[in-house]
Amino acid sequence: MTTQPFSLYVHIPFCTAKCTYCDFNSYAGQDSLMTPYAEAAAREAALWSPHLAGRQVETVFFGGGTPSLLPLAEMRVIVEAMRANFDTPTDVEFSLEANPGTVDAAHLQGLRSLGFNRISFGVQSFHEEELRRLERIHDAQEVEDAYRWAREAGFANVNLDLIYGLAGQTMEAWQTNLETALALGSDHLSLYALTLEEGTPLTRDVDRGRSAGPDLDLQADMFEWTRDRMTAAGFAHYEVSNWARPGRECRHNLVYWHNGDWLGLGAGAHSHLFDNRFAAAASPSRYIALVQEASSNPPLRGPSAEGPWQPLTPRSSPSPRIAAEVLPAHPEALEGPAPAPNPDHSSSIFDSFRQVTFREPADRLREMSETVILALRLREGLDLAGFEARFGARVADAFAAPLRETLDLGLTELVDGRLRLRDEAVLLGDEAFLRFLPDYDPA
Ligand code: SF4
Repeated sequence: MTTQPFSLYVHIPFCTAKCTYCDFNSYAGQDSLMTPYAEAAAREAALWSPHLAGRQVETVFFGGGTPSLLPLAEMRVIVEAMRANFDTPTDVEFSLEANPGTVDAAHLQGLRSLGFNRISFGVQSFHEEELRRLERIHDAQEVEDAYRWAREAGFANVNLDLIYGLAGQTMEAWQTNLETALALGSDHLSLYALTLEEGTPLTRDVDRGRSAGPDLDLQADMFEWTRDRMTAAGFAHYEVSNWARPGRECRHNLVYWHNGDWLGLGAGAHSHLFDNRFAAAASPSRYIALVQEASSNPPLRGPSAEGPWQPLTPRSSPSPRIAAEVLPAHPEALEGPAPAPNPDHSSSIFDSFRQVTFREPADRLREMSETVILALRLREGLDLAGFEARFGARVADAFAAPLRETLDLGLTELVDGRLRLRDEAVLLGDEAFLRFLPDYDPA
């Protein structure tokens, strides 16, 4: 039995309103489910607990949705269940995402007293007009208040999320946004180029000609300016969209990018554990009902007893930003028949977990592919010796053609035993990533 540590992700799917560009697994108008949802997440922790005995929690991340919307009493139910059921050292990175318009000083102090030590504010912009266009519920003053209250509450590790390249946004407007964020003095900045995600209101408006899409050339210019400015400000660019002051890299997200093990609790939360990728039902009410059923059912009733599992889109979470931006698509989970229940040994672990509605047993080639692609998102790149130790195969053998091709195209480079994206190719990462997919077809 492995003693390898794992990370814990808890999905809180509630939001005050649905933002126009958002394709995360989040819901407005379901606040009445918060109490049963917290109880279900706590119960789910207890269900997984026996299978994770002897393994320490490495990092904890509450994502959403808007975790800061959950009242402290409900948050306490989940946190106490987490500590009761998993070996969670008190000094692990313990993060939550927060919307600046949903917190006050007392709430932030309450979160600190529950043990949260890192907070990530979804700021997106400091311009009122841009915030309105994104249908965000906060204003710039609320960001500054929330930031100050977080520091006063004792959060020593604060991240701000910003989006650049909105339609109509000028370079000057973006520069003002970033300068305002830098002036606040956060430890970490996640800076995302606006992308059009399938099924969002924004994408529909762009498709119908009602809104302009992002200007990709201007986005590239903004990225180049940002990289220089962030470096000058003392931040390390450690992942395509992420900058940190020394030692403030997000450890939880590094577990994803190193393709490590994590357990996701909550509706739509994805997990990478027990040699499987799996996900819970996305709908909060269905999740609550299925956890209830799992808690009262003996392990004999597996998913196979009621036909094939329903595949969920893997884009619905874990930390939704990670799912949407980092994990390569799993085409076989999106098209064609659902994967058959797995006859392997690990399937017995899942027998009683009714809330798990998507599962894909690990496939060595896919694991290797994902390990390469995720590591390429990091500026440090892929540790070639570490890859060989993990998989018993050299990248040069397992991915001879894509390796040669991405090197020849100037997308990647080999530096000090690592394969990484070249500085000039960071924005062309997708061109490199897709070549390492197992089913890549150059035609
Ligand atoms: S972007 Fe964030 S706050 Fe807006 S709907 Fe999505 S999860 Fe909720």
